[in-house]
Amino acid sequence: MTKNSICFSFILILAILFPGTTNSQQPAFKAIAFYTTTVEKDHVDFARDVLKYFSYLSAKDHFQIDSTTQWENMTDDLLKNYQLVIWVNEFPHNDMQREAFRKYMDQGGAWLGFHVSGYNDKDTHWPWFVDFLGGAVFYNNNWPPLRARLIVDDRNHPVAKHVPASFISPINEWYQWKPSPRLNKDVHVIVSLDSSNYPLGKKDIIRNGDLPVVWTNTKYKMLYMNMGHGDLVMSDSTQNRMIEDAVLWLGKKK
Ligand code: ZN
Repeated sequence: MTKNSICFSFILILAILFPGTTNSQQPAFKAIAFYTTTVEKDHVDFARDVLKYFSYLSAKDHFQIDSTTQWENMTDDLLKNYQLVIWVNEFPHNDMQREAFRKYMDQGGAWLGFHVSGYNDKDTHWPWFVDFLGGAVFYNNNWPPLRARLIVDDRNHPVAKHVPASFISPINEWYQWKPSPRLNKDVHVIVSLDSSNYPLGKKDIIRNGDLPVVWTNTKYKMLYMNMGHGDLVMSDSTQNRMIEDAVLWLGKKK
């Protein structure tokens, strides 16, 4: 062996042993997940599980994911570093945080919100957010949390391209909205609750009506997913694939 070929072999071995060190790949995008540990246990359990999943995805799909419980860090300075902001079962609570988020979205940022992150009612007093969500205002929910059959409204959408036309989603607390975001011409509903689930619940029963589960307001790079209640939500690989596709669609969306 010549000196050069020894050197080359050594580099090759290094490349096989440590692929990351010789291939300094930039992350495809940077995402930050805001969550909290001071809300109901079922919402914290989901946050723990989905953050673990994001961490797995970030290695697999080559993006960066940071996470924080410090909602006071929702500022222009922080958000400008990220292509995607994720709310896991929580939302901003003061005008400064709300305003930083509004500016971020108006300037082309992307948002993924789970479950209670979309919650709003007559006491929320944040009309911009209601409009952002497509006009949806929380109306009712089933209790106890239950499995449900979901129907994919648009299988050609990048978020739903790997899921079947219909599937059983793990135990979750499902929210119904009035008005339904489907009535908004800018909203594109991707997944809905199948009406065969009705009546859904025992203590609190959803009896009928439209129930969009995953949708986007096409005026923004945003997606809302109603999943997020309890420690079984992340137990289904079909649904997890949809969450993966949602993160990648939003993170890379131009
Ligand atoms: Zn819940």
